[in-house]
Amino acid sequence: PRTGFCTENSTFYSKRKPISLPSNESLDVTTFISSQPHHGNVAFIDSASGRHLTYSQLWSAVDSVASSLSDMGIKKGQVILILSPNSIFFPIVCLSVMSLGAIITTTNPLNTTSEISKQIGDSKPVLAFTTRALLPKLEKSNLNIILIDGDEDSNLGKMMRKKPGERRMRERVNQDDTATLLYSSGTTGASKGVVSSHKNIIAMVQNISRRFSEPNQRFICTVPMFHIYGLAGFATGLLASGTTIIVLSKFEMDEMLSAIVKYRATHLPLVPPIMVGMVNNADRIKLHYDLGSLRAVFCSGAPLSREVIEGFLEKYPSLTILQGYGLTETAGAGSSTDSLEESRRYGTAGLLSPSTEAKIVDPETGMALSVNLPGELWLRGLTIMKGYFGNVEATATTLDSEGWLKTGDLCYIDDDGFIFVVDRLKELIKYKGYQVAPAELEALLLSHPEIADAAVIPFPDEEAGQVPMAYVVRKGGSSLAEAAVMDFVATQVAPFKRVRRVSFVTSIPKNPSGKILRKDLIKLAASKI
Ligand code: AMP
Repeated sequence: PRTGFCTENSTFYSKRKPISLPSNESLDVTTFISSQPHHGNVAFIDSASGRHLTYSQLWSAVDSVASSLSDMGIKKGQVILILSPNSIFFPIVCLSVMSLGAIITTTNPLNTTSEISKQIGDSKPVLAFTTRALLPKLEKSNLNIILIDGDEDSNLGKMMRKKPGERRMRERVNQDDTATLLYSSGTTGASKGVVSSHKNIIAMVQNISRRFSEPNQRFICTVPMFHIYGLAGFATGLLASGTTIIVLSKFEMDEMLSAIVKYRATHLPLVPPIMVGMVNNADRIKLHYDLGSLRAVFCSGAPLSREVIEGFLEKYPSLTILQGYGLTETAGAGSSTDSLEESRRYGTAGLLSPSTEAKIVDPETGMALSVNLPGELWLRGLTIMKGYFGNVEATATTLDSEGWLKTGDLCYIDDDGFIFVVDRLKELIKYKGYQVAPAELEALLLSHPEIADAAVIPFPDEEAGQVPMAYVVRKGGSSLAEAAVMDFVATQVAPFKRVRRVSFVTSIPKNPSGKILRKDLIKLAASKI
């Protein structure tokens, strides 16, 4: 694609230096990353135990695990599920599986057994990696299971110690082959498998490793590795630049701050609610923790308001805030601010990622718009997914024949090429950066014997960003209460998907074809604040 920001043919081109994909068509992402030159020594540190994994230990573990998997008969194109909190072993599994041309699918450990079963039914994995603690969630799945806990006796521990023997003939993996199958609800409906190729991930790896290329970087990893944010960053991208990654199994504010101090972390990737927490607790944090090693926080996954940015910079003036905008469907690419100067343009999600083109399309007329006018952001480039797994219809509505991905985000691009995310046109709710699909909650609500109709919308929340709110039509004679509706949902979904507000109405506004008029409900909810 062309480079240099301009708006020719209503297309915006990236200002960043383009990415050049390796010319070797037969290449998997693991081989690509392991062949990148850098001076890094320690790849991973487990924050709680202090256990280290050097780069040479990492690549030899990846080789051993890949060889064991190959001995077990795992082949190119087969899907492998990872159900695990963050750990230093998670990336080993990802890299081993992808090196064979097999496909990674991940799921949130907070998901319920039935939510996980649904994903298993859709993605049809042949094998799962999980921890002892999460094993009960897979007990009914009949899947072959490999335990990923770090102790010597776990299956993975044994596989890692195995000497890679005679290499079986491995199938040739091409850049166009599928590497990952992460789940996202996209612009509408339930969660779908996002098919990303090795080429998509290699482009994202180059994007990340180029941005974070200085020596002696130490990143804190609390962002989940099952999400594209964590997978692209910590299981692949940063490994190409020799970064040291300090892994926390989950987010907990004080553990994160202690890890920064203990391991002299330089970079802290976050989602907006954690930044809000750091602003609100700044005095206590500064009293107890010396964050002097930290140079930058990186924030992505959901909108970051101007108030939070200003509050953060006031409390932590020595830190640079870098922003990123992206989607699972774009392997996490989209736009970013890469320097203090760029991030001073408050409220921007940054400049278009390298080798990425954009259009801003008027949702009403379908016309492509010029600078400073809001419309739906469409993206095209090397990181755009191949489509939704086994879902031709959803793929066709999201990707057009020219390769444009409709993001469902309302954005504008200013005269200098900076993207501003104004609103979300799609149904998606983001609770603390986690995806919540209204369609899934609506289907659940409709299964209640006393509910005639329901619609779920995002309701603004200072701490979480958004919370799911349900508009419910009760069946005649029912006196169902708000709390009963919330409990009914809470017992069946992961905690982050809970309905946290309920309002009873006599009907759900719909257009003539029966589509819920969510914007009307969002306006109604706003009018009641
Ligand atoms: P996911 O696929 O879970 O990464 O969700 C992608 C969606 O998260 C985007 O389409 C946006 O709606 C939202 N999002 C991600 N990053 C940002 C950001 N920096 N600013 C505003 N919204 C964002």
